[in-house]
Amino acid sequence: CFCQLHGQIDDCQCDVDTVDHFNNKKIFPRLQSLLQKPYFRYFQYRNNKPCPFWNISEGKCASSNCVVKSCQPDEIPPGLKGEHPSVIPHDKYSAEANEPAAIEDGCLGSDATGEPAIVSDKVDGTISQATRDNLRKWQAHHDSQSPFCDVDEDRCQECVYVDLALNPERFTGYSGKDAHRIWKTIYEENCFRPDSLPLSGVGTFSAAFRQHTLSDLCLEKRAFYRAISGLHSSISIHLCANYLMKTSDSPFITPKDQWGPNLDEFQRRFDPELTNNQGPYWLRNLYFVYLLELRALTKVAPYLEQQSFFTGKDEEDKETQIAVKELLNLLRSFPDHFDETKLFSQGVVSKDLKREFQTHFRNISRVMDCVGCDKCRLWGKLQVTGLAVKRLMREAQEMSTATKDYFAQPLEDNLFEWHFTVRGPSDTDYQGGIYHGRIILPTDYPM
Ligand code: FAD
Repeated sequence: CFCQLHGQIDDCQCDVDTVDHFNNKKIFPRLQSLLQKPYFRYFQYRNNKPCPFWNISEGKCASSNCVVKSCQPDEIPPGLKGEHPSVIPHDKYSAEANEPAAIEDGCLGSDATGEPAIVSDKVDGTISQATRDNLRKWQAHHDSQSPFCDVDEDRCQECVYVDLALNPERFTGYSGKDAHRIWKTIYEENCFRPDSLPLSGVGTFSAAFRQHTLSDLCLEKRAFYRAISGLHSSISIHLCANYLMKTSDSPFITPKDQWGPNLDEFQRRFDPELTNNQGPYWLRNLYFVYLLELRALTKVAPYLEQQSFFTGKDEEDKETQIAVKELLNLLRSFPDHFDETKLFSQGVVSKDLKREFQTHFRNISRVMDCVGCDKCRLWGKLQVTGLAVKRLMREAQEMSTATKDYFAQPLEDNLFEWHFTVRGPSDTDYQGGIYHGRIILPTDYPM
């Protein structure tokens, strides 16, 4: 086969055949059934967010393949709409406590001595003035911080819910200069490249990028490029696997037209002879991003295992919890093949690099609002958000292990709301600053 891959996956301790076997036999079947569960089927997003970079009205795709069918409110399981006992409405606190405070230093709240400004070791349910101050700081922190991704706020007014099973990622026909503009913006302005490399035309930019830079790039920058390229491959493979085979010249879908795999299209995109030898490398990047995500999931497994995946449908929620646990156990059985400890391990330079990383990633998430095809935008947003959220969850984990002081507010259902004050480790982005936060956790969560 022109696209048969073998051998080691660059920058990982793993080969293609091992991943294929593990995925095809173990992960894929389980994921398929998990994706049918209500908790994972519905995705909430703001579908009309303006493109912050250019006017997209001309590049709008009018094809019916680009249309996304959003759900009516009564189709959404109640738990997903926030009807959850553990979700605390803001008005649980006084109006004063809910006001975001004007804090000069954003999320940092240390006093002049550098010690935590407020420390509470209470374990009862009373909310002191100090705690209110904590909450205000957290509110401001929460509202202003989202380093990796422009995430739509939870239950935002303008958001819609989409049933992903009814809107599968597949061929839409979105192409040409508008689609290329998005990819070009992502690779040329938001991936890492040396200043000396001139911006080039679509079709050559990616090859030029690889030839000139990849071998010279440090691991972090290469990993970033490879994650994005892997995402691009994933989109291309999905559209080839579920392609519209037309039987007439009609611009509309006719009853004789069929959806199915299109090998010629796949070959056009990945055959080495047709892609200046890049195709196999782009496919390997898909394996790379897969291993990166597996690693991220394994790291947050203890957190995911505590989740209730609440939708309000008891039976299904229990099944989801069990299925997630089984999947996580499977992931644990797969040795770690991506060593993230090598990333950002070079002191001060790494801190700057990490910040640059966040800016690029955030920009890419915002470029998704410039995608002119609604269906492509939905899946682009979903996938970029997925990559970023896993990173954020890791950060939350790091913070909770650095927790210094906290008090707990009991809620229903064996849940506690923890209010905490942490000192960020000085050798990380938190730079030894003091952070205040709150998080809802099960009573027996290991602190
Ligand atoms: P493109 O895929 O547009 O690629 C442009 C150039 O990038 C290529 O010429 C090549 O040099 C380089 N390149 C290609 N693949 C890689 C890679 N993996 N890594 C690095 N460089 C690469 N279309 C659909 O039909 N369905 C969708 O769901 C869909 N979702 C999309 C989501 C987003 C966010 C975007 C930006 C586009 C989406 N598209 C979708 C459009 C699709 O990605 C292509 O742009 C379109 O099919 C035109 O393909 P093309 O052959 O011109 O090359």
